[in-house]
Amino acid sequence: MPYKNPEDKKKQMTRYYLEHKEERKVYAQNNKEKINKWRREYLASHPEKKQKYTKEIKEYRQRYEEEHREERKVMRAKRRKKLQTFVNEYKLSKGCSVCGYNEHAEALDFHHEGEKEFTIGQACNRTMSLKRIEKEMKECVVVCANCHRLLHTKRFLSI
Ligand SMILES: [Zn+2]
Repeated sequence: MPYKNPEDKKKQMTRYYLEHKEERKVYAQNNKEKINKWRREYLASHPEKKQKYTKEIKEYRQRYEEEHREERKVMRAKRRKKLQTFVNEYKLSKGCSVCGYNEHAEALDFHHEGEKEFTIGQACNRTMSLKRIEKEMKECVVVCANCHRLLHTKRFLSI
């Protein structure tokens, strides 16, 4: 459509932009992979844009972290508590696999049979993903503190 003056064109473009905002959002949501691929390819062939983009993202993240410091702290604590509850419930549902003790989760440990990637306690503190923690838990046996110590002593003494 031809426009006599550039101001009209600008106005029309703004109007179009605002009118189709929702549609764009839906499109972006439905084509995430396509858009990400396109963005990756574009940035790979435009190193100077990539640099600018990376810098902007870094600055944005820093700013966000600074502005939401307290909020993030509360969120992390909440998440930590959620993970801890999840782990404790799992421990109690299993009980000690040697003597059957299942009264207090605090007195139940995870005994790693194979390779230990991380301890479950560390994972909760670092707010690792639930899926990863669950996977690691399933590779362990739950034992009470008492039996755990005996288990390691026996292994050490090879009784
Ligand atoms: Zn036990």
